[in-house]
Amino acid sequence: MVVLLQLPRFQPSLFLTRASPLCKTHFNFPPKFKIPIIKSTLSTASERTHSIEIPEEETHVQISLEKLFIPPETDISSDTSTLSLSSRILKGSNILLSKYARDAQIMQAEFIKSSVRTQDCPSDGLPEFALVGRSNVGKSSLLNSLVRRKRLALTSKKPGKTQCINHFRINDSWYLVDLPGYGYAAAPQELRIDWEKFTKDYFLNRPTLVSVFLLIDASIPAKKIDLEYASWLGENQIPMTLIFTKCDKRKKRKNGGRRPEEHVNDFQDLIRSFFQTAPPWIMTSSVTNQGRDEILLHMAQLRNYWLKH
Ligand code: GDP
Repeated sequence: MVVLLQLPRFQPSLFLTRASPLCKTHFNFPPKFKIPIIKSTLSTASERTHSIEIPEEETHVQISLEKLFIPPETDISSDTSTLSLSSRILKGSNILLSKYARDAQIMQAEFIKSSVRTQDCPSDGLPEFALVGRSNVGKSSLLNSLVRRKRLALTSKKPGKTQCINHFRINDSWYLVDLPGYGYAAAPQELRIDWEKFTKDYFLNRPTLVSVFLLIDASIPAKKIDLEYASWLGENQIPMTLIFTKCDKRKKRKNGGRRPEEHVNDFQDLIRSFFQTAPPWIMTSSVTNQGRDEILLHMAQLRNYWLKH
C-alpha cells in the first residue's frame, strides 16, 4: 500500500495500522495499489483561489496509505486513476482532500469572548477548533496568518486573557479557539496545574470541539511536554491534528543539526505508540505561509462533515 509522492525532502515515519481510537475522523483502507509519481496542483474545492505547486527539484518519497489521513466518507474507490488520488493529498501533510473541502476561506474573524470555565464558553452550538501548544511555539503567529490579520491574536495576549479559553468567530459560522500556552517555565506551579485542569476539562466536555490542533515547533527536537500532551490527547481519544510550526527555519547545530522535516519525522516516530492509526499532520510556517491553505481546507472538510452528522 504505497502512494508515491513528491514532497520537500520528507521521509514520513511509520504509524501503527490498527483501527483508530479517533475513529470519528478516520477511515481504514482497501488493500494494495500503487500511485505513480506526479506533480500535484491543488485548489480549494469551492473557491479555486490558489494553487499549490510542488517544485520540480523535490525528491520522491513514499507515503503508505495507512499513514494517510482519509476523512470519513472520502470515496477513494471511485479513483480509477491512481493519479487523481495522489493529486488530492494536501502538500506537506498526510491529508487527503474529500468532497467536504468547501467554504475554506476566512472572510471575517472577530474576537467573541474569553472564558475561564468550559461552561462559560459560547453556547450557540457552532463547530470549533482549538489551537494549543507550548509557549513560543508560534500559536499567535499562526492564528494571525490563518485569519490574515496582523494583530487579531494579540487579543489573547492581553493581560488576564493569556490563561483563558479565547473564542474567535469565523465567517459567523465556526470558531477558532486559542487556548493557553503550556510549559511556560516562569509560571507559578499552582497556576500551571490550574491551566492544565481547565484545558483538559474543556477537551473532555466540549461537545462542539471538532478537533484539537496541537502545535509542535519543527525547528527543534521533540520536547517531553509536547509528547506528554500528544499522548494524553491520544489516550483520551480527543480528535487531534498535529501542526508543525516554523518549518521555514534552517537546521542549526544547537538544535541537533536536523532539518524541520527530520524533526517532524522524529516526532511522529515518538508518538507512534499513542495512536492506533496516523493522526493528520501538516507542516507550516507563518513566515512563508506554508500550510496555511492546507490547514483551512482540512478544517473545512472536518467542519462540513461534523455539521452533516
Ligand atoms: P506563541 O507564544 O505560541 O503565541 O508564539 P508567537 O506567535 O508569539 O511566536 C513566538 C516567536 O516565534 C516569535 O518570535 C515569532 O516571530 C516566531 N515565529 C512564530 N512563527 C514562526 C515561523 O513560522 N517561522 C519562524 N521562523 N519564526 C516564527
